[in-house]
Amino acid sequence: MNLTAPLTIALSKGRIFDQTLPLLAHAGIEPLDDPETSRKLILETSNPLVKFVIIRASDVPTYVQYGAADLGVAGKDVLLEHGGEGLYEPLDLGIARCRLMVAGRPATPEPGTRRLRIATKYVHSAERYFAAKGQQVEIIKLYGSMELAPLVGLADLIVDLVESGNTLKANGLVPLEHIADISSRLVVNKAAWKMKHEAVTALLALLREAVTSR
Ligand code: ATP
Ligand code: MG
Repeated sequence: MNLTAPLTIALSKGRIFDQTLPLLAHAGIEPLDDPETSRKLILETSNPLVKFVIIRASDVPTYVQYGAADLGVAGKDVLLEHGGEGLYEPLDLGIARCRLMVAGRPATPEPGTRRLRIATKYVHSAERYFAAKGQQVEIIKLYGSMELAPLVGLADLIVDLVESGNTLKANGLVPLEHIADISSRLVVNKAAWKMKHEAVTALLALLREAVTSR
């Protein structure tokens, strides 16, 4: 691909990086280092005009919003929490699929008995979901291991990502309510969309082709 402008792409290590690579390879973009073994946070690629910045999954929208990266790949869960300000979300990559769900012990107190406590990393999504149901809840922000909270009496319910349900099951929890289907999205900085339109849309077209031909 012959780009008309340099592009910086924000990616997170792990499943997003692993599952985005084949799509980027379709556009002839391959990293020169493996982020799992390299300590570099900026990776050159086989295309001299394209580099990757390797950051936390939840930081991707922020880097792209402020133009520190022109594009990025972020889970819809992360985008729902961020709010999507300053970003376009032109393509669902269909990778890292899971569901955002309410989960808890099989016999969870009925709503109305008392105000339920909800432990989650997804504070905004949880607030929005229970408010839309007209249910008053208390949200407790956690950064990980949400499954533990109902087991030790920190919370009645959790809001978390569920893929197979095995982690819930291993902890005696069950999925209770579906909030949203999650997959990773290509996000583009709004200014880059205008200023680097040709380069961005050329890459977008190749990624779209890779997604639909898969
Ligand atoms: P951090 O390490 O910054 O807390 P994280 O744990 O969310 O980030 P990952 O586990 O790599 O990082 O998840 C990145 C994205 O992949 C999530 O935002 C979500 O969209 C998706 N994801 C997370 N867990 C699963 C899962 N079990 N199955 C499928 N997709 C998932
Ligand atoms: Mg994780």
